[in-house]
Amino acid sequence: GISIENISRKFGSFQAVDKISLEIESGSLIALLGPSGSGKSTLLRLIAGLETPDSGRIAIAGRDVTHRSVRSRGIGFVFQHYALFKHMTIRQNIAFGLELQKAPKAKVRTKVEALLELVQLQGLGDRYPSQLSGGQRQRVALARTLAVEPQVLLLDEPFGALDAKVRKELRASLRHLHQQVNVTTIFVTHDQEEAMELADRIVVINKGKVEQVGTPAEIYDNPATPFVMSFVGPVN
Ligand code: ATP
Ligand code: MG
Repeated sequence: GISIENISRKFGSFQAVDKISLEIESGSLIALLGPSGSGKSTLLRLIAGLETPDSGRIAIAGRDVTHRSVRSRGIGFVFQHYALFKHMTIRQNIAFGLELQKAPKAKVRTKVEALLELVQLQGLGDRYPSQLSGGQRQRVALARTLAVEPQVLLLDEPFGALDAKVRKELRASLRHLHQQVNVTTIFVTHDQEEAMELADRIVVINKGKVEQVGTPAEIYDNPATPFVMSFVGPVN
């Protein structure tokens, strides 16, 4: 799991993340839900090691990683704007990280086929990114990230740039994927429906602070603060 203890991060005089503490169970699927500017991406970047906290600590699988490099944290990311390699086929894109790790060719081949199946893109391995839809490309980005077997998967509004119908399809894909791979996953969204439908637990963030942590049912039925009530509640 991931243990976050009292972390803070300021930009100039602006407190983007304000003494956040969280315990994230191994293998769970967590949504960070909050309005624009509430500090979701900053928190994710702190967990990833792309930002350094001003204070507090972060442990992954019992190991303090607060001052560890991004690479040593065993984390995979997918951001809103997929960055696939345009001149490589889908298969080559997915294999990229494995090849960097110098994995044996036969192993790479088997793994890439399994991943294509996992994200339901069988038969499209020889295409180039420009020949796929946005939702398909985002699934390639997921497969490419999962290829190197991260301990933790961080998704920052991975479906943000896509239309409502494709977002729905991708939600189903992410659920399916999470059930198969069972990697601890934190995804950022400002879409309450997405959080409700996907997450085991939702962390509601506002102005750099955690307003509430709970299952979708707990958050919906028992909002802890007026903010949560207005942001997540039935009358929205
Ligand atoms: P959104 O939903 O719009 O992506 P967010 O919840 O992800 O918002 P953050 O990106 O974490 O919000 O930003 C939180 C606040 O910190 C914002 O007010 C932002 O302008 C500020 N901020 C973030 N990164 C920096 C930076 N590198 N320098 C200065 N201010 C920053
Ligand atoms: Mg953001």
